Amino acid sequence: MRIEILGSAAGGGFPQWNCNCRNCRSLREGTLAAKSRTQTQVAVSNDGRAWFLLNASPDLRLQIERTAALQPRTAVRDSPISGLLLTSADLDQIAGLLSLRELQPLRVYCTASLRRILQEDNSVFGMLNRVPQQICWMDIKLGERFPLLAMDGNESGICCEVFSLEKKYPVYVLPERAAALNPDEASVGVMLTASSGGRLAYLPAVSAINKQLLHLLETADLVLFDGTFWSDDELIQVQGSGATAREMGHVPISGAEGSLRALAGLQRPRKVYVHVNNTNPMLDESSPEFCEVGAAGWEVAEDGWQFNL
Ligand SMILES: [Zn+2]
Repeated sequence: MRIEILGSAAGGGFPQWNCNCRNCRSLREGTLAAKSRTQTQVAVSNDGRAWFLLNASPDLRLQIERTAALQPRTAVRDSPISGLLLTSADLDQIAGLLSLRELQPLRVYCTASLRRILQEDNSVFGMLNRVPQQICWMDIKLGERFPLLAMDGNESGICCEVFSLEKKYPVYVLPERAAALNPDEASVGVMLTASSGGRLAYLPAVSAINKQLLHLLETADLVLFDGTFWSDDELIQVQGSGATAREMGHVPISGAEGSLRALAGLQRPRKVYVHVNNTNPMLDESSPEFCEVGAAGWEVAEDGWQFNL
């Protein structure tokens, strides 16, 4: 299975258009030992021909244009992208769908709750179903294994399973709608198994780490994990106010109950942080935080990274 990291930053990207934090300012000035990053986006393929996007970032059009494997090959209208899998209804995970509205047949795998939010509450997404053979919505169920299908209906060689990570829906989802949805479907993690047996765990937003999750991650070869915030009060430190990391649905990296310590016992998987917020000090490759992460066996994903499982 080929895995391409098309984007590795959290919402807003790095630098963020309206942010003048130390990281963003120094990156613009060229004085920070760090790389710019687009918003988190991953693509996977078992055979290098049929590709699947994990979520659809607001930077998707640019990310496709930077990645040869995802560009048209044959007909005048053509794409090697067979489908997408959505992990949550967060704007940063779905906005890119609107950049795929050019009548290209695609499958979108998501929970029934997410499909209802997109199809029934937001008429703008009706642009994805203007003609019968456009987007084919595929309802997925928690804990159920299913194959990702190429556009011709054949199995792609990637088997998928999703599991609940968070019960809160995004703030734009009306309270009466959220109350009618299954809370366990609000945000899911993904485990992909390739025909080689290689396993990828994709968890860009993790609100809590429990034993069951650790057990599952130990069966993976590669874990792409929520690296949004270094500390719980990071945004408050930078802005003077705001929400904590945990209030925003992200376990911080540092601290007694942070992901660095919680996942320290994992033996099998290669561990990579993705979805890194522009305020996170570990983006600075000369920082003690970057060194600490590296010493603990973690890597900090960059746009353009590739893996093979
Ligand atoms: Zn910033």
